[in-house]
Amino acid sequence: MPRRLAILGSTGSIGVQALDVVSRSPWEDLKVVALSAASGWEQLLEQAREHGVRSIALSDPDAAARASEAWTDGEVLIGPEGLVRLITECECEMVLNAIVGSAGLVPTVAALGEGIDLALANKESLVVGGELVTQLAQATGAAIIPVDSEHSALYQLLASERAGTVDRLLLTASGGPFRGRRAPELAHVTVEQALAHPTWAMGGKITIDSATLMNKGLELIEAHHLFGTPYEQIDVVVHPQSIIHSLIQLCDGATIAHLGYPDMRVPISYALHYPDRVDVPVSALDLVELGALTFEAVDVETFACLRLARESALAGGTAPCTLNAANEVAVHAFMGGRLRFMDIPAVIEETLSTVPAERVHSFESLGEADGRARRVATELIAGRAAA
Ligand code: NAD
Ligand code: MG
Repeated sequence: MPRRLAILGSTGSIGVQALDVVSRSPWEDLKVVALSAASGWEQLLEQAREHGVRSIALSDPDAAARASEAWTDGEVLIGPEGLVRLITECECEMVLNAIVGSAGLVPTVAALGEGIDLALANKESLVVGGELVTQLAQATGAAIIPVDSEHSALYQLLASERAGTVDRLLLTASGGPFRGRRAPELAHVTVEQALAHPTWAMGGKITIDSATLMNKGLELIEAHHLFGTPYEQIDVVVHPQSIIHSLIQLCDGATIAHLGYPDMRVPISYALHYPDRVDVPVSALDLVELGALTFEAVDVETFACLRLARESALAGGTAPCTLNAANEVAVHAFMGGRLRFMDIPAVIEETLSTVPAERVHSFESLGEADGRARRVATELIAGRAAA
């Protein structure tokens, strides 16, 4: 029997690649039973027809209404509540969460709460709710299999290691389009320049996060929660070619790396088929053609987002939630032409110093912290525009 799969955020960069992975798999391996998107209802219906899916959810009520009118072959669920119903009622065995931003937390919780295995692209779920999310997975026995390329690499590298033998995790970072530049040179960069990622083609928000290095900050927190590794034992190294996806250093002096050409279908396929491996149409690595792989230290002075992420991670409580919410608001404003590139870390830092970190009691307290941080960041951005 094929594994029954729900793909959330199926119209996005990861979602579309995941459907490509499914299309290339033998029918007896994977069957998509549910799809969701924010508002792109026409594309979502096209995907549903192609994959024979009978249940979809749209977060945007207008889009959901139009989809219901246009589609008689299945059920259209509406809004965030509809998305939770989709997860709990579609009888799937695995959820791929490829939603962008903290909107992914509720569906992550819904899937894990039902004991459904989670293929997780939505790193923001773990940044915002790491402790509660991993506790919930442990309580219900659901697996979290990372889709983020670095974490997929680490998951595979760590699989054969016994507890206590791993000294460090090394996350690689491409450095983004502005690698090697200093703050004064970044004062007037445009959205288009920030979106021109050198090695990966991804959705808009994560591409901007890669340019500020916030992406690596979020990934540091993601790694801590996924693998239970203390922050002092997780480092970041810049590796512009994005061939090494991450490394682990062991107590006997060995360092093991995971390599491959940058193509998200590899980690997506790994998660969807876990524990099996299947063919993915990517070229085998040609080391001679590559010639050289290079490495650099991170410039945390210029790319302050990585420093802010590490500080929030160490502060704990609601601080990473605040960091993430302020970042989402600031990146949205930058993409809308309402904030300068170097003001992204400035707004996040000010939000963090305005909103005190609190203990996390429940998922509700995270929702409140997220809302508070969004309001503060929005005001700070409006204040800058008026100044
Ligand atoms: P994207 O913007 O291309 O797609 C996002 C998807 O989520 C779309 O289907 C959209 O309709 C849906 N969505 C957006 N807001 C929503 C909301 N409020 N409620 C419900 N659905 C909503 O994003 P992406 O690049 O595919 O990234 C998705 C996630 O995967 C992010 O967390 C990102 O950090 C992570 N990730 C992406 C890549 C990549 O290569 N794109 C790599 C590693 C990790
Ligand atoms: Mg990544």
